[in-house]
Amino acid sequence: MLSTWRTLLQPLPGICQVCGGWPTRPVCENCARRFAGPAARCRGCAAPVPEGLSRCGACLTRIEPQPLQACAAAVDYTYPWDRLIARFKFRGEPGWATPFAQRMLQSAHARDLLTQCGLVVPVPLTSTRLAERGYNQAWELVKAVQQQARLQGMALPALASPDALVRLVEAPDQHSLSREQRLQNLRGVFAAHPDRVAHIRAAHVLLVDDVTTTGATLHAGAQALLQAGAARVSALVFARTPPPD
Ligand SMILES: [Zn+2]
Ligand SMILES: [Zn+2]
Repeated sequence: MLSTWRTLLQPLPGICQVCGGWPTRPVCENCARRFAGPAARCRGCAAPVPEGLSRCGACLTRIEPQPLQACAAAVDYTYPWDRLIARFKFRGEPGWATPFAQRMLQSAHARDLLTQCGLVVPVPLTSTRLAERGYNQAWELVKAVQQQARLQGMALPALASPDALVRLVEAPDQHSLSREQRLQNLRGVFAAHPDRVAHIRAAHVLLVDDVTTTGATLHAGAQALLQAGAARVSALVFARTPPPD
């Protein structure tokens, strides 16, 4: 039943879901270009940087080592992507994974991370949330990215695992919290799956999510993977909340 509904709720074929133009893809090339966001992003945190630079000021001057070594993002978490992500995540439209994955693969940094990593892992949902939603949007992105990469002839040595990282509890509402408070909140939320530790150990793990706001969730997930023996952890997200002006 659920799958029937899901098929019915896939993005309308042939009509741009942003401008209504047709015949075209779910997001037409004009809208994709218009809302493409910054061309250059920091390799450490995916924040926008001036063209030609590879690190933002915060990443360049940070002293303490970060659990996340690199982060790539496709777009800013702003209109129209925020609305499309809400449909992807909350309105039973997992089909958005494909157009999102196509945009993710346009970043050279994302392509590098994908070819260099040994294990691709989605940021997990709790089992309760997964049962409610019927799918983990981050795992849908992993599968779509792999499928699109294969179609483009990219060599992908990486293994993908939907459950190498486990979310033990739902973190309390994070919306109004600072990055530090979020990190505090996320303590003990993630753990490596004991049966997947052999894959995680000594691997370069690529953590995939739909959105990153402060990076706290990716940070906490990366910490759990490093504790389980990962050699390093990078992240690939579809959208990143732009830093405040
Ligand atoms: Zn359009
Ligand atoms: Zn940065």
